[in-house]
Amino acid sequence: PLASLKDASLLKTHALINGEWVAGGARFDVTDPATGAKLADVANLGEVETEAALQAANTAWPIWRAKTAKERAAILMKWYQLIVQNADDLARIMTAEQGKPLAEARGEVMYGASFIEWFAEEAKRIYGETIPTTDSNKRYLVIKQAMGVCAAITPWNFPIAMITRKVAPALAAGCTVVIKPAEQTPLSALAVAELAQRAGMPAGVLNIITADGDSSITIGKVLCSSDIVRHLSFTGSTEVGRILMKQCAPTIKKLSLELGGNAPFIVFEDADLDSAVEGAIASKYRNAGQTCVCANRLYVQDSVYDAFVAKLAEKAGAIKVGNGFEAGINQGPLIDDQAIAKVEAHVADALAKGARVVLGGQRIGERFYTPTVLADVTSDMLCAREETFGPVAPVFRFKTETEVIALANDTEFGLASYFYSRDIGRVYRVGEALEYGMVGINTGLIAVAEVPFGGVKQSGLGREGSHHGIDDYVEVKYLCLGDI
Ligand code: ADP
Repeated sequence: PLASLKDASLLKTHALINGEWVAGGARFDVTDPATGAKLADVANLGEVETEAALQAANTAWPIWRAKTAKERAAILMKWYQLIVQNADDLARIMTAEQGKPLAEARGEVMYGASFIEWFAEEAKRIYGETIPTTDSNKRYLVIKQAMGVCAAITPWNFPIAMITRKVAPALAAGCTVVIKPAEQTPLSALAVAELAQRAGMPAGVLNIITADGDSSITIGKVLCSSDIVRHLSFTGSTEVGRILMKQCAPTIKKLSLELGGNAPFIVFEDADLDSAVEGAIASKYRNAGQTCVCANRLYVQDSVYDAFVAKLAEKAGAIKVGNGFEAGINQGPLIDDQAIAKVEAHVADALAKGARVVLGGQRIGERFYTPTVLADVTSDMLCAREETFGPVAPVFRFKTETEVIALANDTEFGLASYFYSRDIGRVYRVGEALEYGMVGINTGLIAVAEVPFGGVKQSGLGREGSHHGIDDYVEVKYLCLGDI
């Protein structure tokens, strides 16, 4: 699938350290989840190379932060434009290693690029403050300064956007970065890094350390324990987030964590049912259900339950599953065998406890799974508590608003939530009552670069995107001026 790239030089398989492509001693395979075929072998780095990348980033930092915000913004803008110009090739690389359909991959490339555009603009607006004095002989000033070297560990479900969402604000603020992309999707990361090089990113400002699963653990330890790294940003599972947080404790690092979710999607009886079905399809089945904001639990009010389930099954039944490179496909494979096993376990558990398959419920080939709708789902089932991360919509029945708010909040997670209602009072009440970082009201799609993305409770720390997205990468410094 990668033979047809317009620009074959975007296919990089070495890591990027201090502006040089590094082959590393060992290599690891990257495979196509749709076919299992090997796509490339990529540098499998370890401790020594990670230290070298951190040194490079540390050396580059004073030079990068000394540039004016406008100079940094110009390089970021160039990078943004190159990503947009190369969107077709980037999408092909992404579909090959991640599996999502080509049109969806292209959508992610543009979404990923939008963070670079946004933060290139925000770079120029990192304002300080002057505080009215309480001592006529003194003046109080506040400035914001780049934190220093930042590390980022990113997941496979959005191979480009999860990188740009962290790297763009860091670079805009004047920080330098070392990125460890997911072992499943390093090619997208390296292609984007190649475009950063072409945009004129100085050596050492953006470094990419590639590694397989085992080496990723080693590298994680180096990044967390390093005195050079001032900030660690991670998107991935809550379980790994906890490990990283613990590893960062001795050096008191600032942390941005974007962890798991368990999104409720509530349909009240006053909702526009067709619109709710459309939103549920977009939220649930996008990326084959492999996003941290995917609807995980669908709660539908008693009086519209049967109608909603029937409409949802009809629409979900029209989703075409197959290789993401083929025309007309809307759902690709799941990322790996473990992902398929989890989906199968959740469905089997639900069926054993009394749920009913309305649609799907089957694996196709090795890593494909049919869009699935389960009815009569109850709170004692696994899918009520854990993220399924697959194309399975479990539909729960509820009677009252109070009951469903309690059910929705009954989880340690708090990332995205959704509800459908046309009643303005209810929109406010429920919007305020949901213990989540994000609430989609009458929509299943909420993420854009301009808004703060992030969770509460065990879904994470910090916000990415929006003007808040830069806060994690700057230190607030107070200057007290005496002897006036
Ligand atoms: P997912 O379930 O999405 O694969 P993970 O949390 O396992 O999420 O992985 C997300 C990222 O974290 C990947 O880049 C992976 O290599 C990395 N990772 C996984 N375990 C560790 C670890 N113990 N230390 C550092 N990085 C890790």
